[in-house]
Amino acid sequence: MLEIRDLRVRYGSIEALRGVSLTVGAGELVALIGSNGAGKSTCLKAITGILRPVEGSIRLEGQELAAEPAHRIVARGVALVPEGRRLFGDQTVMDNLFLGAYRRRREVGGDAGMRARAEEYLDRFPILRERRSAPAGSLSGGQQQMLAISRGLMASPRLLLLDEPSLGLAPLLVRQVFDIIRDLKRAGRTVLLVEQMANLALRIADRAYILEQGRIVLDGTSDALLANPEVARGYLGRLAGTPTARREPPGRGITEQQ
Ligand code: ATP
Repeated sequence: MLEIRDLRVRYGSIEALRGVSLTVGAGELVALIGSNGAGKSTCLKAITGILRPVEGSIRLEGQELAAEPAHRIVARGVALVPEGRRLFGDQTVMDNLFLGAYRRRREVGGDAGMRARAEEYLDRFPILRERRSAPAGSLSGGQQQMLAISRGLMASPRLLLLDEPSLGLAPLLVRQVFDIIRDLKRAGRTVLLVEQMANLALRIADRAYILEQGRIVLDGTSDALLANPEVARGYLGRLAGTPTARREPPGRGITEQQ
């Protein structure tokens, strides 16, 4: 679905991505993990055309995106749920949902299709139905994240990009949001998840890449990374092979992992 090769992105003299290559297969949930400033958001901004790479290629189903403007990339089926949610705080929950499908009205079946999709997410998240006429800015952090993910899905994207969905949420809400992401994977969605919380990301992702200072330093299946002592030391805050290293069996929610 997505193939990135040798991606280089600069902010003036700062080289934020120094030759990043990664792939996401159709139906895969892939995590991009790294600490503050590693270049995770930069990578998502390059995929979505917000930043123009200096070098490298970004292909969606074989078609090059690296020179496309952001609105065309959206029209091709890439949706970004940005860091910090970035909802339109003065607009209602419903308006925010509809805006998610704005560029892909035709693909989702026009106004009727948009309404049907919005109903689907209001069913999935009853609290959003309850607050449907409220300004998005009045929702709690967790509710805003549910709305931001639903807004991203409104466009029926081929590829969903999630930028640090756990940021700023209380632990219980983080677990709820990760349950939602796990459900997306079960529903066959293709997702690239950017996260600092490596432990949680690796428990739901099929594969992951670890980014440090603009370079991929490790990649592999989540199981292999969870068992890797280097990952455990650097990213999980514990020794590999301890009970918390095990992944959640399919069909079970994320459980407390202290
Ligand atoms: P975070 O978790 O803090 O969002 P990140 O892994 O997403 O971190 P990026 O935001 O992609 O990291 O930043 C990568 C590097 O690029 C950092 O060194 C950062 O300081 C730098 N950077 C990001 N945005 C800009 C900008 N607009 N101008 C200059 N440098 C930037």
